[in-house]
Amino acid sequence: MNDVKRTPDVDVVVVGAGFAGLYLLHRFREMGLAALAFERGGDVGGTWYWNRYPGARCDVQSIDYSYSWDTELDDQWEWSERYATQPEILRYLGFVADKHDLRRDVRFSTGVDGAVWNDDTSLWEVRTDDGATTTCRYYVMATGCLSVMKDPDLAGVADFAGDVYYTGRWPHDDVDFTGKRVGVIGTGSSAIQSIPIIASQAADLTVFQRTPNFSLPAYNGPVRPDDAAQINADRTGYREAARWSSGGVPREIPVDSALAVSEDVRRARYEGAWQEGTIFSMMGSFNDIMVNAEANATAAEFVRDKIRAAVDDPATAELLCPTTYPLGTKRLCLDTNYYTTFNEPHVHLVDLHANPISSITPTGIDVVSDDGATSYEFDAIVMATGFDAMTGAIVAVDIEGRDGAELRERWVDGPRTYLGLMSAGFPNMFMVTGPQSPSVLSNMAVSIEQHVDWICDTIEHLRASGHTVIEPTSTAEDGWVQHANDFADITLFPEANSWYMGANVPGKARVVLPYLGGVDRYRRICDEVVERDFLGFEIGGANGAEVNDGVICRVQPDVSIMLEMMEEMALPPLDSMSPVDARAFSEAMSAASPPGPEVGEVLDGTLPGADGNDLAYRLYRPATPGPHPIVVYFHGGGWVIGNATSDDPLCRDLCDQSGSIIISVDYRHAPEARFPAAPDDGFAATTWVAQHAEELGGLSGGLAVAGWSAGANIAAVVAQRARDEGGPTITGQLLLNPVTDGDLTRASYVENADGYILTRALMAWFWDHYADPDQRSDPQASPLRASNLADLPPAMIVTSEFDPLRDEGEAYAQALAAAGVDVHHLRARGQIHTSIPAVGALLSGAGTRSEMAQALRGFSGAGVPA
Ligand SMILES: Cc1cc2nc3c(=O)[nH]c(=O)nc-3n(C[C@H](O)[C@H](O)[C@H](O)COP(=O)(O)OP(=O)(O)OC[C@H]3O[C@@H](n4cnc5c(N)ncnc54)[C@H](O)[C@@H]3O)c2cc1C
Repeated sequence: MNDVKRTPDVDVVVVGAGFAGLYLLHRFREMGLAALAFERGGDVGGTWYWNRYPGARCDVQSIDYSYSWDTELDDQWEWSERYATQPEILRYLGFVADKHDLRRDVRFSTGVDGAVWNDDTSLWEVRTDDGATTTCRYYVMATGCLSVMKDPDLAGVADFAGDVYYTGRWPHDDVDFTGKRVGVIGTGSSAIQSIPIIASQAADLTVFQRTPNFSLPAYNGPVRPDDAAQINADRTGYREAARWSSGGVPREIPVDSALAVSEDVRRARYEGAWQEGTIFSMMGSFNDIMVNAEANATAAEFVRDKIRAAVDDPATAELLCPTTYPLGTKRLCLDTNYYTTFNEPHVHLVDLHANPISSITPTGIDVVSDDGATSYEFDAIVMATGFDAMTGAIVAVDIEGRDGAELRERWVDGPRTYLGLMSAGFPNMFMVTGPQSPSVLSNMAVSIEQHVDWICDTIEHLRASGHTVIEPTSTAEDGWVQHANDFADITLFPEANSWYMGANVPGKARVVLPYLGGVDRYRRICDEVVERDFLGFEIGGANGAEVNDGVICRVQPDVSIMLEMMEEMALPPLDSMSPVDARAFSEAMSAASPPGPEVGEVLDGTLPGADGNDLAYRLYRPATPGPHPIVVYFHGGGWVIGNATSDDPLCRDLCDQSGSIIISVDYRHAPEARFPAAPDDGFAATTWVAQHAEELGGLSGGLAVAGWSAGANIAAVVAQRARDEGGPTITGQLLLNPVTDGDLTRASYVENADGYILTRALMAWFWDHYADPDQRSDPQASPLRASNLADLPPAMIVTSEFDPLRDEGEAYAQALAAAGVDVHHLRARGQIHTSIPAVGALLSGAGTRSEMAQALRGFSGAGVPA
């Protein structure tokens, strides 16, 4: 019999006794679990125990940045300022620890060095720096996002004869800089808070700046009466609103773009945000500040103007102005008199880009300068060089999971988590505000409470269901990492070399570390995982394990947001309308969409249709010198709605990116003109364009066809007819979400029947208006049914993952390839039927649109643009 010890020393080991560790201890005690916390510091407080530098304060208002789980605290604790100082926050956490007698479960001045999962016992063995090992069933890293200082990596620090201070490990005794010459290295948040205070004491202060930061005035002082009144009116409601807000602080979310208002309105909004004195105000002043570079630039310039107005010396002001990254993509700072401190005659700024530090010397700091080297002499140096954020404290511990897997190794290319809470291969190990959770981009008090509650409720669920082990599946984890990266990719965050990106630490993988979807969305997702029986988890115990494999967020984030907005608007379904009303409705929707890019020229005209009727067309000409290759484009709309201008943004984008003339031609619509009027018109129009190519400014000798949805159906039919009827020469076919078959029973019709705008019911409505049931097997209605698919022009077929038409598009791609046609098929991950044409509105489709344009270049032999 196996004699391994299966009873743990404690139920839970918690690492860290800051905001997170304290609340965990309270919850576990309430649950009747034996929990023990190890804390490297000498007392509770975490961040607020270590960061005692002058001016250290919170940058989320204290009334928000405080616990909500003990509602008595709001009466028992009164904050003296909007932004409390470090000593006051530390006293607050000490007060909470005393009130709930939490210190008795913390082993202070004890660091956790290693943690090993034992598969035989299903326990963690936690090794501490006092040489002891503690076994536990659950292991929780409450180690903080900003608790491991970044190594400043400067030669000669040990030789400096004066005092060296690190903002993140400040001495517990008072430090007085009166009469001293002080050098501060760094201009991040800690530096920006401490520099005005150090300057008020020092005889001389030199600040060494690598990259300037955007900072807004804190306007600190007593809690503003309006804010207090708002909270006191309904404390429970206010805290609940914070939990369901995007940043963890209740505030109105603007719905307008910074680019959609006049300069005066924009500046007035920014001035209001500036006066508000919060980190959320400027980033949230319009709905596109963090996603649109042009919008962001207007806010950034507003702040730069404020810096220029505050700093007397223009050269110093310019040095203090950030210009190399969008506002908010590095942590925004809040300050009290930071910029004006540089007007003091004894305060100097050194630009480390122009004059990098060569070494710390016994007497000060040497920098490289035009004439060789410049030496600065100091009595004290302050290192405000930041943190190895978000992952630093986790990978600092030797964590070994199932089968000897080392977490540090697993994360070498960036953290891999499910929900920022757990990692595959590391059963029963939880992280509070781990990477890929909102964490540092939120009011951490709210995010910490949500994580602690989720972890404790999950452990409670395991106990109640007789289970002992929980672990995310690698599918779920891969999906979450992908989703977090997808979110990052539609924002401006990747453009900055910030600690959010891990870019401040040499050798660290460069990925966006926090989750950018917001606190509210994130909470909803975590709740949904639980509601769906712990989707993405394997849960087990003595009686075996159950796997509920899956991915929680599969639709692209911007597409999801758009679907949510549409659901809120409760729009009537098109198939509940008459065709005339559906057309009017769809035109109104198109009019509200953002325009596509500028092109060289847009011309409207008419050409003859199949029965001599006039067909409208719109020609988009590139700005480059012609003649250009020509693409005849057919719009989407189920043969019932739309016209030559309804896919205007997509046509502009294709024109701009491919360097081709795009001629969007109309065709007769059903039910007024049923099948085969549309493909007849499509073929007539293509023939006419081919005959008039040179007059239209295009290249003769062949053209490509393209289309979206029903328009792609027409394009595919035109390519077949051109082959069968002796021309015109078609050089390629670009089919986006094509209708290729009248069969509505394929799996994609079942999986995506509802909820992704193009529903099964709507598609049936289109077909009913378009063609009789017995006409639907005609290859001119269902090109997939053609008896011969050989000798067709090269094709690019794009299908969308969440589209009822996905499988028939893929069937067409396979059938063409089987017939020997050169086919490039792209399944657009996380996209729906209508999302890729939404140029300007949905950024996640941009990569697919570029590939489509590249395919058009390939058809014309133009190749990939330089
Ligand atoms: C100067 C500063 C100001 C901030 N202001 C705000 C603000 O205004 N609003 C906001 O939302 N957030 C703010 N933050 C972020 C802040 O870190 C969090 O709000 C919060 O304090 C984190 O609490 P925590 O318990 O998760 O982690 P921490 O407070 O960082 O506590 C983690 C603890 O774990 C301990 N630990 C780590 N590794 C080990 C180990 N291996 N063994 C033993 N112990 C270990 C550390 O010693 C530390 O005490 C600020 C951060 C800093 C640095």
